[in-house]
Amino acid sequence: MKNIAILPALFFLFASNGCMSTKKPTASSMSFAPNIVVAHRGAWKKNNLPENSIASLQEAVRLGCTGSEFDVHLTADDSLVVNHDPHYAGLTIEKSTYAELAATKLSNGELLPTVYQYLTEGMKQTHTMLVLEIKPSVISKERGQILAGKVVTLVKQLKAEPWIMYISFDYDILKKVLELQPNAKTAYLNGEKSPEQLAADKIWGADYHYNVFKKNNEWIAEAKKSGINLNVWTVNNADDMQWFINNKFDYITTNEPELLFDIINKKGR
Ligand code: MG
Repeated sequence: MKNIAILPALFFLFASNGCMSTKKPTASSMSFAPNIVVAHRGAWKKNNLPENSIASLQEAVRLGCTGSEFDVHLTADDSLVVNHDPHYAGLTIEKSTYAELAATKLSNGELLPTVYQYLTEGMKQTHTMLVLEIKPSVISKERGQILAGKVVTLVKQLKAEPWIMYISFDYDILKKVLELQPNAKTAYLNGEKSPEQLAADKIWGADYHYNVFKKNNEWIAEAKKSGINLNVWTVNNADDMQWFINNKFDYITTNEPELLFDIINKKGR
């Protein structure tokens, strides 16, 4: 009988140690799948899923991609939503409410995903990083800053920081992210800044169009020297994939993650 009395106390100790529940990873404990494959707008193409859908994120996770990219906008009523274009179902996202936008479902029957739903889904696993693109505002530069602030606030509320790499074409959006979350991984998309410039501004990575790296070949060595991580978009054919593999890129962003896995698994890195 004495032993039975201590069972609840033992249970409490066991549970509070995290043995009975899923322990949330910290930024330093997180290690993503050891490959270079980033699914662009999720893994959608092969299975004809809608881009940027929860289903495309789930497929990227199922494939074991090290990252899954998605695009974020702010609606007129301050919802953070996931979609590539600034328009959805004939409506300008920034000038429409979430209810107006959500009246039209994605082709697979999903509601237009919110960033809350997307992050919550992504945080169910720990091998695929969430590559979060903050889209510049079509209304004003200031609204892009507000969007960046709301995104970082939500990421912090959900304790999603360890999963996130922030990317943007708007340099000031990345600077805003760093102001609010100084240790954030940020990568710039627009392609006109040298790796040394990025390093001076504490940007984590160069995530440029493949033609930028082919034209500015010297930036690859410069990035490695400056500690700038290298990502490239959007690489969809085997020859180009091999070129970036040969140049030891940290990530390759692609609409064809299955093809990139085939190449990596056949030839190694
Ligand atoms: Mg994008």
